[in-house]
Amino acid sequence: MVVVMSAEAEEAHIQAVVGLVEKAGGEAFVSRGVNRTIIGLVGDVEQFGTLNLHALPGVTDVVRISVPYKLISRENHPDRSVVRVGGVPIGPGTMTLIAGPCAVETPEQTLEAALMARSAGATLLRGGAFKPRTSPYAFQGLGEKGLGILADVRAETGMPIVTEVVDARDVELVASYADMLQVGTRNMQNFALLQAVGAAGRPVMLKRGMNATIEEWLMAAEYIAQRGNLDIVLCERGIRTFEKATRNTLDISAVPVAQRLSHLPVIVDPSHSGGRRDLVLPLTRAAIAIGADGVIIDVHPHPETALCDGPQALVDGDVRELAETVRALPPVVGRTLTQV
Ligand code: PEP
Ligand code: MN
Repeated sequence: MVVVMSAEAEEAHIQAVVGLVEKAGGEAFVSRGVNRTIIGLVGDVEQFGTLNLHALPGVTDVVRISVPYKLISRENHPDRSVVRVGGVPIGPGTMTLIAGPCAVETPEQTLEAALMARSAGATLLRGGAFKPRTSPYAFQGLGEKGLGILADVRAETGMPIVTEVVDARDVELVASYADMLQVGTRNMQNFALLQAVGAAGRPVMLKRGMNATIEEWLMAAEYIAQRGNLDIVLCERGIRTFEKATRNTLDISAVPVAQRLSHLPVIVDPSHSGGRRDLVLPLTRAAIAIGADGVIIDVHPHPETALCDGPQALVDGDVRELAETVRALPPVVGRTLTQV
């Protein structure tokens, strides 16, 4: 934190700032320039915030230099992290494919989608049992029955499961089945839910809020970390802009920006970004090329009858091209497809 004094500030004003900061247990370093003096503060920034320094005479500005998210920042943790989900790594050096149906509908549909995912090279299975839907009349997911189906398909395929939790009251139940808990875009700032998943003892995939800045997204991750859980994977899934041609606008630059600010892995959801089958592969290529640590993709054996997000699901005929893409591209950027 830096305190900028006005050109008219007197020595007594400078000493008042230094005195307050030292009394609060911090250190104050005074730099006297030609026109004005600035004071660099070292110590507990949160505590400095309570001192109301900007209200003192002679003070023009108080600027926060260190980032507000501490635990997930690269400032104190320069190496990028690897998060393991049921033994599958997500992080630097690898590119992890997560795939599966948007929603768990039946045991057959979930198993077929999982086999499609696996033949594309996926090592983690996605699938929603609790669905956050815009309309209360839309399919809300099978709930615990869906979790049971996912567990059966995991037993059959060996693929660990990633599934969404939409309510803090369900965290314990979902965590008893899931290998990774997903927090969706609509819940990115549901702070009670973030705290609950932070205490659940499972890795968490945190999707970016559709209206959230990167800093808000990282602060949401900090809520989870603050409860003792650093196994967090950030997921860029597109944001709302004026553009109507795509479901959301994939903010591809968020990947390297978030990777520079935070040590957490960052993956991309090309399905929910574009919202259209024909865009999923091009957006997947963009995600791998820019250095994403993974991608999460919707696949469905019969999208025309899917209860959720059929238009963006890849079909059987797309699986070969997806498999080629996730094998061929990562080595170009110094990564390998995660295999088990
Ligand atoms: C999903 O992954 O099925 C989902 C609901 O995603 P999002 O929260 O990004 O809309
Ligand atoms: Mn979906």
